[in-house]
Amino acid sequence: MLDLRNVLQQAQKNGVAVGHFNVADFVILKAVFASAQELKVPVIIGVSEGEREFLGVRQIAALVRSLREEFDLPIFLNADHTHSLVKAIEAAQAGFDAIVFDLSPLPIEENVRQTKAAVEALKAISPAILIEGEIGDIGTGSEIHDAAPDLSKGLTTPEEAKQYVDATGVDILAPAVGNMHGMLKSMVQGEARKRLDLARISQIKSATGALITLHGGSGTDDEDLRKAIAAGINIVHMNTELRVAWRRGLEESLAKQPQEVVPYKILPVVVEAVKQVATSRLKLFNKLT
Ligand SMILES: [Zn+2]
Repeated sequence: MLDLRNVLQQAQKNGVAVGHFNVADFVILKAVFASAQELKVPVIIGVSEGEREFLGVRQIAALVRSLREEFDLPIFLNADHTHSLVKAIEAAQAGFDAIVFDLSPLPIEENVRQTKAAVEALKAISPAILIEGEIGDIGTGSEIHDAAPDLSKGLTTPEEAKQYVDATGVDILAPAVGNMHGMLKSMVQGEARKRLDLARISQIKSATGALITLHGGSGTDDEDLRKAIAAGINIVHMNTELRVAWRRGLEESLAKQPQEVVPYKILPVVVEAVKQVATSRLKLFNKLT
């Protein structure tokens, strides 16, 4: 089985991106796994600090490992948006494949200093682990926002990206390129889409040569996503779209069976709803449509 670094290099060579989906329960994990298995594509499962707290760090690591071993599928686990070295070490010790070490709210010099130290500490625990660093402002919260935050001042420049990657030794960079965490109401209703700064992505790619992640992919224009992948994006994060599907599926299932109390009779509808979203996104990222 290839490790995550090899899978990402292979994706880069093929001009495709690896889908990263956050999970907060077994229903979403089951849906994402089923999509990846059907399409025969690699996939990354992401868990934020909040999602890890709910699921258990070692418990989600054991679940993902069991799927990888039993089904021989390249499914990987990422500790998404980790804001302290203590939490990052916990994930590395539990066997995670990657960690997003996110000190982007700090001044850049402090972000560089602490990220460099974290890269050294985490590689000492697990030499194959991939560390992703973040610069710029892409907002917070994979949820539905009333209004768009002004992120225009927090866009990542190619110069700053190169300095950051060289100085910290991160394996993967998460820049701010017009992307944003969460979705606006208008995006959930399908009336608006996020647009990306494609020229900036190309410039950051050629300046750094690094692997690049696009966070906050939910609600992004399909054509922009295709072009962003062609411009050098290697991983695309999706969370809010799955959460919206999860909630809609659950409401629909409960409404259809008002007397039902058996979880495994209620939840397959939710798995299916989430799986549909994951499948359409994985097809796009892997050029299968
Ligand atoms: Zn993110």
